[in-house]
Amino acid sequence: MKESSDKRHIAILGSTGSIGTQALEVLEANPDSFVLEVLTAHSSADLLIEQALKFKPNCVVIGDESQYKKVQDVLFDEGIKVYAGADSLAQVVQMEEIDIVLTALVGYAGLRPTMAAIEAGKHIALANKETLVVAGDIVTELAKQKGVNIYPVDSEHSAIFQCLVGEFHNPIEKIYLTASGGPFRGQTREQLASVTKAQALKHPNWDMGAKITIDSASMMNKGLEVIEAKWLFGLKPEQIDVIVHPQSIVHSIVQFEDGSMKAQMGLPDMKLPIQFALAFPERLKSDFPRFNFLNYPQLTFEQPDPKTFRNLALAFEAMKLGGNQPCILNAANEVVVDAFLKDKVTFLQMSDIIEQCMQKVAFIQKPNYDDYVATDAETRSVASQLIKND
Ligand code: NAD
Ligand code: MG
Repeated sequence: MKESSDKRHIAILGSTGSIGTQALEVLEANPDSFVLEVLTAHSSADLLIEQALKFKPNCVVIGDESQYKKVQDVLFDEGIKVYAGADSLAQVVQMEEIDIVLTALVGYAGLRPTMAAIEAGKHIALANKETLVVAGDIVTELAKQKGVNIYPVDSEHSAIFQCLVGEFHNPIEKIYLTASGGPFRGQTREQLASVTKAQALKHPNWDMGAKITIDSASMMNKGLEVIEAKWLFGLKPEQIDVIVHPQSIVHSIVQFEDGSMKAQMGLPDMKLPIQFALAFPERLKSDFPRFNFLNYPQLTFEQPDPKTFRNLALAFEAMKLGGNQPCILNAANEVVVDAFLKDKVTFLQMSDIIEQCMQKVAFIQKPNYDDYVATDAETRSVASQLIKND
């Protein structure tokens, strides 16, 4: 057994979500490699308590302050410290004991704690792609200054990262991000006009949180991932391509300057990229189900359809314009996805509102952190107004 100092000490932000709970399975299966220091949740107090009683972290944070007492009442006797609110989230990630912060919370809320963790020199295992979409320039610059690594958890970016191991000195010619195409692959705009939230929430290959599942149905997830890839791997927009691969077995591809292409494959299971990010450069032995070629006699590839799935085109446009445009795209998307989940807008209206926000909110070429905060707030208010007037 390794000494505690040889083990990686982990904080999981968003431990009650899809990525968070799978990360805990990885930690549970590898007690010799990891020590859990921090768990956090937004409002799922009961699950947070259950996880804390099982994993005995140093401390927990509940985002929703009204649930502080409930959590504190149970965990106090266990010697587990309990904090509440967004400020606490940004503070606990700076705890001395932590080596890596897994950002498994959803949306713009990830930006501040991720910046705080990097500021304190913590490595990041990044699931929260929205952070890089909103402010990729300042986040990657700060990480460089602080000597902090950002290990991708998103399966496509983990695939690219795995293909790059041993190749870091070789320039990338281009990358292909694979996309499953989601539940509405091949449908026309007429068909999309009447799709329901229940249909959109049924992803063919992955079981994920509600927001990313809607993003996958609308192709915004791939759009966000294109921008995420730009920042993670230092790419130009024209070096990033998307290819639809409905089986989700090839997780992404790197093409090098000699024309050789490397792909990373496996069954769709987020535990693998989570574990790879937390244990890098080691590959820990696992009992995850293995891929069998005979179960997949055909792996197929097709062009995406950005005319029907306009979010993909909007994301490419935002990436090319740069500045605060991706931040506007992200904030508008968070508002419309929430509205779609509450039956306040239709599936196709989501792209219309995002596009209008990109036109209405003032463009800033070189935003600083405060500009991003202001852009996010302004976009949310513009998007909400557009939804009300509709
Ligand atoms: P989820 O909705 O299942 O879980 C989100 C977690 O974040 C929960 O623990 C919740 O309590 C917490 N949270 C939500 N809002 C918060 C807030 N405002 N402040 C603090 N905590 C908050 O989401 P998920 O599917 O696990 O996705 C998490 C992130 O990982 C997203 O950015 C998503 O895009 C990314 N991701 C997820 C998958 C996947 O398979 N689920 C794959 C790739 C990337
Ligand atoms: Mg992904």
